[in-house]
Amino acid sequence: MSTVYFDHNSTSALKKEVLETMFPFMTSQHGNPTSRHVFGRNARDAVEIARVQIANAIGAQASQVIFTSSGTEANNFAVNGIASQLAHGQILTSAIEHPCVTRPALAMQARGWRAHGIHVNADCKLDMHHLHNMLAAPTNLVSVMLANNETGVLQDVAQIAELTREHKAYMHTDAVQALGKIPVSFEDLGVHAMTISSHKIGGPLGVGALVLDKRVDIYPLLHGGGQEKGLRSGTENVVAIVGFGAACELAIKNLSHFAKHTESLRKRLEAGLQEMKAMIFGINAKRLPNTSFFAFENIEGETLVTALDKAGFAVASGSACSSDSTEPSHVLLAMGIDPDVARGAVRVSFGVENTMSQVEAFLKSLAQEVNRLKQMTAIAA
Ligand code: PLP
Repeated sequence: MSTVYFDHNSTSALKKEVLETMFPFMTSQHGNPTSRHVFGRNARDAVEIARVQIANAIGAQASQVIFTSSGTEANNFAVNGIASQLAHGQILTSAIEHPCVTRPALAMQARGWRAHGIHVNADCKLDMHHLHNMLAAPTNLVSVMLANNETGVLQDVAQIAELTREHKAYMHTDAVQALGKIPVSFEDLGVHAMTISSHKIGGPLGVGALVLDKRVDIYPLLHGGGQEKGLRSGTENVVAIVGFGAACELAIKNLSHFAKHTESLRKRLEAGLQEMKAMIFGINAKRLPNTSFFAFENIEGETLVTALDKAGFAVASGSACSSDSTEPSHVLLAMGIDPDVARGAVRVSFGVENTMSQVEAFLKSLAQEVNRLKQMTAIAA
């Protein structure tokens, strides 16, 4: 039995077309981009072509794209690098950020910074009133994600960036989950810095980027040979960068199909979930088309995920893309969801290759597993 993959927000398979563009750089085209000979020049050209492909996909200029090893690295770079160039002040992050934003912000506290979370409401939307109040204290950096990895809920980043700029603070957004699923424009969002990652869009693992307004002074992430304008030294991961560029180009070409197709799958899924009396988180807010986050009363998310895995469906429980922690999702807790309900959370995230018949089969298995687990709970009680 082959398992159906419904966990695309965790990572998505490398696309065949992307692999084909990478292949020569794994074999015959093995130059170091800093070398002056033809191999080096070819590698440099490939990196710069990828930089343009990525910039075109996100409404940015190629010179604003700084390659990193991951979205995690880019988020750490944004928080540490921007804060390090400023006098001690305040960093605000939304309460639902990925830990690779909140933890570096909290770590800055040891260096004299104040780090605070901005509340969200029950729909997972940023509490603008709270942000307003928090900005009354001198603030240097605000970081709010474009799309949440668990609920898929979208934030009004352009509006948040405008407010942040009025308060003379820098604005960063984590667009890792948004890229390839909804239109993303660095320019239109009006942010100073934005994080993206390759493996969420059918590109290879091990490469991401920080997109940075040239006027922002940022402390280098790695010192060394001066690659990436001296901001992140180290020989470029040419193979992965080439793949990231190709994946971006492909994702933008397929964006409207992705959105239409995955949204139709989600609609069917959620109609079935509602019949089964599941609670669907963030359902009243604008969300990513492919993401559904839900729970059943008195059923542990971990237990359901394991049962579904045995039944042939790969789905995630809350916070699955950050660690193997069994704590309830911090996103749901921030939304005011009861911890016992939050422990039941399960996330389905579709990719373009998923089909309606897979969703129908999933709903059948889910109903069986939910009934079985409910009976077990009733016997134990
Ligand atoms: N930000 C968000 C919203 C994510 O969902 C993830 C991945 O799980 C990351 C950042 C980290 O990206 P990467 O896996 O490239 O380190």
